[in-house]
Parts: sequence; structure tokens; C-alpha cells
Amino acid sequence: MRQLKISLKDNSYDIFIENGIISKANEYIKEVYKNKKVYIITDSNVEKQYLNQVIEVLKNDFIVDYVVIPAGEESKCLNVYASVIDSLLEKNIRRNELLIALGGGVIGDLVGFISATLYRGLPYVSIPTSLLSQMDSSIGGKTGIDFYDRKNIIGCFKQPSLVLIDPLTHKTLDKREFNNGMGELIKHAIIGNDRLFNLLLEKSIIDENIIYESLSVKKRVVELDPFDQGERMLLNFGHTFGHAIELKMNLKHGEAVAVGMLMAIKFGVDLGLTDSDIHSKVKQVLDLYDLPSFEVDYKEYLKETLYDKKNLAGIVNFILVDKIGHAFIHKIKEDELKWML
Ligand code: NAD
Repeated sequence: MRQLKISLKDNSYDIFIENGIISKANEYIKEVYKNKKVYIITDSNVEKQYLNQVIEVLKNDFIVDYVVIPAGEESKCLNVYASVIDSLLEKNIRRNELLIALGGGVIGDLVGFISATLYRGLPYVSIPTSLLSQMDSSIGGKTGIDFYDRKNIIGCFKQPSLVLIDPLTHKTLDKREFNNGMGELIKHAIIGNDRLFNLLLEKSIIDENIIYESLSVKKRVVELDPFDQGERMLLNFGHTFGHAIELKMNLKHGEAVAVGMLMAIKFGVDLGLTDSDIHSKVKQVLDLYDLPSFEVDYKEYLKETLYDKKNLAGIVNFILVDKIGHAFIHKIKEDELKWML
């Protein structure tokens, strides 16, 4: 078992990572929640795999109810947000009763947002089941929904009371969903953990230890920057170019980040800021885990970076790495960038 604690000024919580932990989830939850009733919110895929098992174990200590939503990003929307709240109110949910997010990043973001807003705030526990949610999105407290085709545009910060990660659950993910998480996991190694990078070079299975190492990168930036005003930007390594190619090349987000990281490395090498050996090492890891590693000329996409929503007026922030395990923010004035184009 591996354990991490997120320590924030007015909110700290534990993350337990252990194979099979969902079969004793009640033991952990009763340490942070003293009322009787809990409401699991899950999606239609995760329902089939894990809902009954989680209900059975929680029944040992709690009265359990649940809501199931359709699987997929489309559920991170105002309609589903409203329908879940409607179901919870129908079930007579009270202030201070506990929500449990059982699922991937979509469930995590949606349930976190409901927990922040229903009755102006209820506690929630996260049981992430996709690799992406286990190695990244279940911690840090960013919650929200999409609005029409704008991703994550409505939301707020709300930290969970507890996160329980069972690495065995991501074994039932299909290959592309697994890869989606893998792209982001490799990113964590490149920006903040060379030990993790070396483990990945050995083609390790993605176990408790790897998830722990990946989350420790996120923990560091979340604690430095709980409200996404500075250091958290480092997590966007590979995203500026990744966003530009994701739709165009019909890639999953994590796959686009993989290619975007190679583009950002080439850009950094050309600026004289990135060690040129990094490119082949990163390509080697991407190939090991069957992620796309084809070359795309970053220069063709520099123009689109001007419109990235993360940029402030007049300045474009690029996340670059100088060596494996260390990322930094490189600011370029829009005028200079236009000149480069
Ligand atoms: P997801 O929740 O849609 O899960 C991907 C697919 O896998 C879904 O079909 C889901 O039903 C299925 N699934 C989940 N766990 C499974 C399991 N154990 N077995 C079988 N199938 C399973 O998507 P995701 O990739 O987990 O997360 C993506 C979302 O996370 C996006 O909306 C993104 O914006 C958000 N995100 C949030 C943060 C944050 O900090 N809050 C960070 C990164 C991404």
C-alpha cells in the first residue's frame, strides 16, 4: 500500500493506493464520515464492473443509494448535472451527507462540482477507476462541467475528503482509454520525476508504486498552487501543441499530449533551452507503451498557440523541459512569436 497526503491551508486529505482497496472502502470512509447515508454516483460502464461490489462493502457501515449516468464526456454537462441533483433531491439527500464519485475523470469532475454546489457544499470521497483519474484528476480539487463545446468552462475548486485508488480496477479499461492515461502519466515523469521515468523505461506494469510516483508530481504542484495561478501550469507540458493537433488528427487527449510533448521538446531544443538527448528518450518510452510518437513540425502549429486559452494577453506561456524531471515556464511575447512565424 502507498499513501499520500495533500496538505492545503484549509483542507488536507489522504490518498490511499492499494490493490483491492475497494473491497474494504467502508473501513476508510468511516474514518472521515460519521453520518449514515452515502450516495454513489457512477457511469453506465463502471456500474457494470464495480457498482455492486462497492454497494455490498459499503452496506457493512452505511445506508447506500446510487445514481447512474451515461458514460462519456457528454455527461459533463448542465443537463446531467441537473438530473443528478434532481435524483439526489428525490432520494431526500440531506446537507452533510456524503457523495461518492465512482468512475473516471468525468464522474470525478461532475461529482466534485455537485458536491461543491448542492446545498452550497457536501463532502465527497473519490474512488477513481480509470488510469487518468487514478494518476491525475482525482486529486487537486478542480471540478466542473463543459458548456456547449467549451470544456471545463463552468466549475470551481473543491477538494475531496478522501481518495481511494485501486490499481486493479484500471485493468478493465479498453486499450485506448488506458493509453489516454498513460500519455499523462509519462508527462508527469518528464516534468517532475526522473525516477518514475526510469521505472517506465523498464516497461513496468502500472501498479501502486507507479501511480504513487505520478501522483507525487501532481501533489507538489497542487500544494504550491492550489488555485491554478502559477506552477500548476507546468502540468500543461505537451498540451499547447497537443490541443492544436487533437481534433485535427482524431487523437485521444493523452495521445495528442504524447505527440505534443515531442513537439515541445523540439521547440525547446531549437530555442537552445532543452537538452537534445531528451527527444529520443521520450520517444523510446512512448513507443514502449504504444503511444503515438510520430513527428509533427511544431512550426506549423505555433500560430495556433497564440489563441490558447491559458495565455494572458500579450504573452504566450510555453512549458518546456531542460532535462528529464524538470519543467519550467518560458514566456514569449506575442510580438516575438509573430516574428518567429
Ligand atoms: P471518463 O471518465 O470518460 O472515463 C473514460 C471511459 O472509461 C469511460 O467510458 C468510462 O465509463 C470508462 N471507465 C472508467 N473506469 C473504468 C474501468 N475501471 N473499467 C472500464 N471502463 C472504465 O474519462 P477519463 O479519461 O477518466 O477522464 C477524462 C476527464 O477528466 C475529462 O473530462 C477531463 O476534462 C477530466 N480531467 C480532469 C482533471 C482535473 O484535475 N479535475 C485533470 C485531467 C482531466
